[in-house]
Amino acid sequence: MAECKDPRECGGDRAVDDMPELSDGDDDEMDDEEQWMEEDEEDSQSVTCLFCDRLLSSVTATLQHCTAEHHINLVDVIRKHSLDDYGYIKMINFIRSTNCSTSSLTALPDAPLPWESEVFLRPVLQDDPLLQTDPEELCGSDGSCLSSGPESHDALQRRAQAAEERARCSEEALARAMDDLHKLKLLAQGLVLNAETGKPGKLGAVAELREDEDEAYFSSYGHYSIHEEMLKDKVRTESYRDFMYRNPEVFKDKVVLDVGCGTGILSMFAARAGAKKVIAVDQSEIIYQAMDIVRSNQLEDKITLIKGRIEDIKLPVEKVDIIISEWMGYFLLFESMLDSVLHARDLYLADDGSGWILGGTLPVIYPDLCNVSLAALGDVQKHQDRIGFWDDVYSFNMACMKKAVVPEAVVEVVNADMLISEPAVIQTIDCNRVCLSELEFVSDFSLKITNTTECTGIVGYFDIFFDKGCSNKVMFSTGPQFTKTHWKQTVFLLETPLPVQAGEELSGKITVRKNKKDPRSLFVTFDLRDRKQTYILQ
Ligand code: SAH
Repeated sequence: MAECKDPRECGGDRAVDDMPELSDGDDDEMDDEEQWMEEDEEDSQSVTCLFCDRLLSSVTATLQHCTAEHHINLVDVIRKHSLDDYGYIKMINFIRSTNCSTSSLTALPDAPLPWESEVFLRPVLQDDPLLQTDPEELCGSDGSCLSSGPESHDALQRRAQAAEERARCSEEALARAMDDLHKLKLLAQGLVLNAETGKPGKLGAVAELREDEDEAYFSSYGHYSIHEEMLKDKVRTESYRDFMYRNPEVFKDKVVLDVGCGTGILSMFAARAGAKKVIAVDQSEIIYQAMDIVRSNQLEDKITLIKGRIEDIKLPVEKVDIIISEWMGYFLLFESMLDSVLHARDLYLADDGSGWILGGTLPVIYPDLCNVSLAALGDVQKHQDRIGFWDDVYSFNMACMKKAVVPEAVVEVVNADMLISEPAVIQTIDCNRVCLSELEFVSDFSLKITNTTECTGIVGYFDIFFDKGCSNKVMFSTGPQFTKTHWKQTVFLLETPLPVQAGEELSGKITVRKNKKDPRSLFVTFDLRDRKQTYILQ
């Protein structure tokens, strides 16, 4: 009681110097109470009785007066009809506005109550202290406050329970508020990141959790079409096949883990190449097809298929000798599947004694080496089609659209004739050594220009090597000079073309980082001469 400063918390029974009965005889409590009464005297408000013109010094005094003079216990009415805050407020205003008799109140049916209309939410008296009182508190302090002894103890208990309940509700509200705040933070982050690219923020995406994004990612691999496209990509699939079939000594009697097996093609190559056991893992529904495929090819004794995220499942073996995976995304790192392969590497790849970290020959991840390369593009026609187009659209200027178009990196097949520089490798990744943090990087580059023309963009691509411990090394490139693959190339268009001279070095800096909001997408920033542009790959 001594700490109670809010009139609603105190049941409105303030400045009760005329109410010695409130004491339960406890000296300490009495002291507290006296102090409390002193504090409250200053801001006490008189209360007009509900049934006569008398002014009372407090809400409790008013209730007492109603009981003594008008023979109605309002707390009983509140309890009988289980009135909540609104019901109580409406009752007070109903009584004041209708001047109803006390007998009509005691004889009320359970329902409907005469004050059900919203009209009674409007206060009849201005600053009516009765309306500032919590009915729950009144119920905890009614009769019990007016007498002493065990009833007063019950009232205190009820009050404590009510306070506990309020605390619980507040905690829940706080938890909800914290959750909302977290979502808002995500929204703000998303807006800031998108602002960098000039793309509008997607409000709907805010609520999307990482898990939902992963679900969408894996469900895209559940459909046959994406696997058909990959299997029909001969450069890709035959490279994996050739590497395994031409290097059987690498696979002989080895335990192989296939991270993201899809239809099971790589697992079957490995089995045919002589692996003792292949464990094939995939989270997407395609693995059910892989199960049939493996059986149809009588490889079920060699290949064990497990559905699940490699990060979540437990393998039936402690360690494996080799990890194979086709994890590459556009511009190599889009999709971030390499993260999962590195997770498997750190968990399951056996140490061959010399240790893969120290450059031991086996065991290994295949493919083991990857290069990311850039070259300058001089495709004025295409630039005009994509960017210049917005300058005059049916004679209207829509140039502002360029700010939305340019930041989206384009995945398309580039005509090698449009290259105007020699290529430059900007990053080499050794899958056996690289750590997660190195998958985001900054790299200076220099492109040796071969034609005097206008540079309209930069093209990015990657090369893949099956190298370590192989007597017959295999590689493939996704560059514009080679047979096209389903990865095509990634084009970063400049907003305005850059004049370049044959023989000059066009130097710049590239920054590759994950989109924190959607770690499967990438932000790529180019600093080229005095220009800076961030692109998103999603
Ligand atoms: N190896 C197959 C499929 C490659 S596509 C082939 O070469 O044809 C990549 C596959 O990896 C998809 O089927 C995808 O569902 C799966 N994948 C990606 N991340 C994974 C993870 N963390 N755990 C399990 N499977 C994953």
